[in-house]
Amino acid sequence: MIQLYIPLNFLGVIYREIKQSLTDLDKMFRLLEREREVADVPSALPLDVVGAAVRFEHVNFAYDPTRPILHDVSFEIPAGKKVAVVGPSGSGKSTLARLLYRFYDVDGGAITIDGQDLRAITQASLRRAIGIVPQDTVLFNDTVAYNIAYGRPGASREEVEAAARAAHVHGFIAATPKGYDTMVGERGLKLSGGEKQRVAIARTLLKDPPLLIFDEATSALDSSNERAIQAELESVGRNKTVLVIAHRLSTIVDAHEILVLEAGRIVERGHHQDLLAKQGVYTRMWRLQLSGADGWPSQLA
Ligand code: ADP
Ligand code: MG
Repeated sequence: MIQLYIPLNFLGVIYREIKQSLTDLDKMFRLLEREREVADVPSALPLDVVGAAVRFEHVNFAYDPTRPILHDVSFEIPAGKKVAVVGPSGSGKSTLARLLYRFYDVDGGAITIDGQDLRAITQASLRRAIGIVPQDTVLFNDTVAYNIAYGRPGASREEVEAAARAAHVHGFIAATPKGYDTMVGERGLKLSGGEKQRVAIARTLLKDPPLLIFDEATSALDSSNERAIQAELESVGRNKTVLVIAHRLSTIVDAHEILVLEAGRIVERGHHQDLLAKQGVYTRMWRLQLSGADGWPSQLA
């Protein structure tokens, strides 16, 4: 009985593993399909960064043609300015960040940096110019040092450590037996969402690029860490072009322009004070956050 039970149970495990691998493969192939669209054109030139001014011109986008996500999105981030995007979950905020990093190409309209269409420049040069702290950081199965230095190969251990200190992750790394040589990922050290986010912040601080994208960069941190790191992000973003997707409105009151996104459309826009004067969605959100609510409540969606 026991002998029969074990192999059957084992087969069950194998079956589940295979099924999972097939869904993963399926996902991967679908991703590759998409990936092919963002290949460099033969005439692609390296991005010539002047001030890293960004323009979204009537951008339309869908992951799946039957379900449009962004509708006629236009905005501009002048060189060295910060534009913030706020809105309910699922409104398309992260999609804007992914398009600017050119994970996907737009279906309509255009995105330019210093007047150069993203589709006409090499991906390598684009990604050198951009530092992105995504919502969900995926780290490489490599050492902590490699993961931080990734943005700037050849960085010294001192530089890596300085970036880690600024991102408030040095203490955590130093406390592990192998320190910066600790492997992370599947077979190594498992990091929490907040720790991964801080590694991504350290990577971006070290890379120090002219264009920054923060996608709810501090959302996985507790509020004391968040305040401290927010100050670091402020200082690294000074005089740089910044697209910030904010979940806490108090961090973007100084933005050049705030875009309120709902279901893929910009429904309100302006400076913090202009938006408050409108007494619209933004005002309601601001009042809610003043009263202690975090994020963008679903009832506003
Ligand atoms: P936000 O960042 O505002 O929460 P997202 O830009 O992540 O919103 O997503 C906008 C919409 O696009 C959502 O409806 C989401 O389900 C969908 N979406 C996001 N990523 C993908 C993807 N890779 N494939 C298909 N749909 C996606
Ligand atoms: Mg998002």
